[in-house]
Amino acid sequence: MVAHDLAGRGVRDPRVLAAMEAVPREEFVGLAHRDHAYADRALPIEDGQTISQPFVVAFMIEALDMPADGTALEIGTGSGYAAAVLSLVCARVVTVERIARLAGRAAERLARLGYADVEVHLGDGTLGWPPDAPYDGIVATAGGPSVPEALVGQLAPGGFLVMPVGPLGAQHLVRVRRVDDGRPGEDPTYEQDELGGVAFVPLIGAQGWPA
Ligand code: SAM
Repeated sequence: MVAHDLAGRGVRDPRVLAAMEAVPREEFVGLAHRDHAYADRALPIEDGQTISQPFVVAFMIEALDMPADGTALEIGTGSGYAAAVLSLVCARVVTVERIARLAGRAAERLARLGYADVEVHLGDGTLGWPPDAPYDGIVATAGGPSVPEALVGQLAPGGFLVMPVGPLGAQHLVRVRRVDDGRPGEDPTYEQDELGGVAFVPLIGAQGWPA
């Protein structure tokens, strides 16, 4: 999978490729899907949600360009798989999930597998997670109608935010970079680019889609 579907399709960052190789995806899917754990496609998890396609996980984490000593915020813990991968390319991951059962299971799974640098929280991730802000990188693994202002506001100077934006089922991947140096009294400035088409489950919350 790593050689063919990730490196073979353009993922270059050796830290991301090593992390994708290290995390056992079969541990993050149900028994019925284990035979397909290394197929390059999204798979169903509980509560009508999905574990994302490996290429997309790697592509989004590469786009974050996380500093090795940085803290990342992930919105949409799901199975915990992407958080586990992300935790191997930076120092600490804070991840927020709105469905209690998923958050509980992911926290248990990540602890059992030894991913001690991941903290799972239950909440509306469209509001970010203010107690640990600012973050060196923010990734949302569900698609919203627009980039939530709360998330942009929790980005550290120089940090990237990567998330799917657009109509349900057919979004484009947006990357926002905070380019200012964070000096007091100066308004932050941001740059935005688009990284291609994706299809994610909806980001539901105060600054996302209605439930
Ligand atoms: N990153 C996950 C993984 O590796 O398994 C896949 C995430 S799945 C594609 C999207 C997740 O986002 C779902 O678990 C969904 O419940 C969650 N979600 C949707 N809206 C959310 C919100 N406002 N805050 C937190 N999580 C949200």
